[in-house]
This record gives sequence, structure tokens and C-alpha cells, in this order.
Amino acid sequence: MDKIYIWQQTLWKKLAKERQFSGHALLLKGRAGIGKSLFAHHLAKFLLCEHSENAAEACGNCQSCTWFTYGDHPNFYLLEPEALSILSGDTIVNSKVEEDTRTTKPKKKPSQQISVNQIRALNDFVYLSGHQDGYRVILIRPAEAMNPAAANALLKKLEEPPANVLFILVSHCPQHLLPTIRSRCHQITMPVPDVTTASNWLKQQNIKSPEVCLAAAGFAPLLALTFNDPEYMNNHGDFIQQISDPANFNPIILAEKMQRYNLSIVVSWLQKWCYDLLSFRCTGKVRYHPSQQLVIQTLAANIENKVLIVFMRDLISTQQLSKHPLNARLFLEEMLLSYAVLITATWNKE
Ligand SMILES: [Zn+2]
Repeated sequence: MDKIYIWQQTLWKKLAKERQFSGHALLLKGRAGIGKSLFAHHLAKFLLCEHSENAAEACGNCQSCTWFTYGDHPNFYLLEPEALSILSGDTIVNSKVEEDTRTTKPKKKPSQQISVNQIRALNDFVYLSGHQDGYRVILIRPAEAMNPAAANALLKKLEEPPANVLFILVSHCPQHLLPTIRSRCHQITMPVPDVTTASNWLKQQNIKSPEVCLAAAGFAPLLALTFNDPEYMNNHGDFIQQISDPANFNPIILAEKMQRYNLSIVVSWLQKWCYDLLSFRCTGKVRYHPSQQLVIQTLAANIENKVLIVFMRDLISTQQLSKHPLNARLFLEEMLLSYAVLITATWNKE
């Protein structure tokens, strides 16, 4: 975690140069899977570094940087829910949290929330402990995980901010934060890389099909890493091959094949495919399947927008049902037969 991502460098240069954060709190906001937490850690390390005054980066060698690297900096406090989703794509290894989960047997399900007690525990950090009364950084992520009592307790701290303390809040859903918290933060919208940048970055991580992973992750590069899985790739490849070939498409066989796989994911494949059919008809461009553009062009030519939009609307309901189907195979058969009607009816017109 020594380097920020390439798409964050412009923002980094600006922040490192200005070093002026209005107020005592920063809110780094943006979608999941773009590296907000890593950026926040990088910033905390930089601000705590003993030699960063006129530098562009933390030195990496001082006592402070060493503490930070080993995850035990006395002036840095990471506040997060017990059960931080590892799929967020923003996960940073925190040595303290890791130790705890390794050595203690979980008695109950880890909490998804940040509790008021966790916020209250900050008092010791802010007022009692710490190193040489120096600058302190508190990182809260994801900030929307604070329950109402925790949010109110934090608000009180932001209203009367302790000296020499910077709060960094990281949020995928800033709209779920109290407006009074948001208004007390200097808000920064975190950059999202364009498809080429994200794709190139994934190639550097040795991802074989960056395009497929990126599309699966809604173009969030860190999230895309989690889709680099052979089972996912094989099923996705088979699915797309079938639905893109009306002459040989067999809904019954495909349903049987996919019934044991995650149904929500299968529905999302068809949703993205249909999105591209409609997108091509309306704009001449595809978003999720650039390598299939010719096939999409051919299929899209014979489907009416109105029919496609109705089908896509039905897929939204199908997606909602996908978590609790009575029978996975029948559920898929129904969806795929409807799709077959959509494409073969128009296909036969030729
Ligand atoms: Zn340093």
C-alpha cells in the first residue's frame, strides 16, 4: 500500500501541495472499488510523517512512517465495522483487526455497523494517549456504517473539534450521512478511472480478461479483481456464447447448466447484454461487451426498442426474485425462454 493508484495522482499532487483542509474533517466520497481507503491511508501516513513538510510523499523512513507501515502508529486510529466487507475493493490490511479475528473465536455475527461505543472510545485516543501530543488522524470507513447514535456522537466531536486532530471519513454513500456531518467536512469526490486506464491497470495485475472483470464490476477496478475467478469466467463465457447465437440457442440446456451458479449473477449478465443491445440501437455504442460489438449490432438490428425496454423492465423484477426462487432451473428456463422469443421472433423475420 505504498503507492496510490495511477488515476488518483492528479488529486494527490493537488492535496499534497495545498495541504489545506478547511475545517478538521475530510470526506472522501465515491463509488466502491476505486481505492478511496488506500488513498485515505496514504494521506494519513503523509500527514503524520516527520519529514513531509515540503515533500510530495511520506519519507517512508522516519519513526512515524515505520509505525504506520506496521499498523501500530499511536497517532492513527482506524474505525470500521467489525465485519468489513472484503468485497468492497477498498480493503486495507489492518494488523490489529487481523490479529483479533485470528485469535478470538467469533461468538456472534460480526457487526456491520459502527457503534456509538466505538465513537466514544475515540476520547481516549484524542485526549489521553498518543505520541508527543502531535497531530492525530482518525479514519472512519465506511462512514455510512455509523448507526444513528454513533453519527450523533461523531457530530458532537465535529462541532467542537479537538485541536490537532483530522477526521477522514470515507464513504460510498455520502447521501446516507447526516447532512450536518457532511456540511462540516471538506468534501472530495474521488476520481474514477476511464475504461482504458482501468483495463491497463488490471493487465498489470495479471488479469487475463480485464474487459469481462471490469464490466462485471460496473467498471470499478478494485472490485473487478474479485471477478478474476475461473468458474466465473467459464460460466460467463458459456452464457454469452449461447445468448449471442440465436440459431443454436437452447434455453433448456443453458438453464440446466447455470442452475447451480449464482442466479443473481446470471440475471445480471442478461441485463448487461440487453443494456448493450439497447445502447447500440440508441447510440451505436456498447458498454459491457466491446468485443461482441458485431454480434450485438446484428441482433439489435431486429429488435424494437419498445419490446426490449419491456423485457428489461421484467428483468428488474426477475433480479429481485433471483435470491429466493422456488426452483432454480425453472426460474432460469422462464427467463431464457422469454429472451429466446425476443431474439428468435425477430431473427426469423429475415
Ligand atoms: Zn516519514
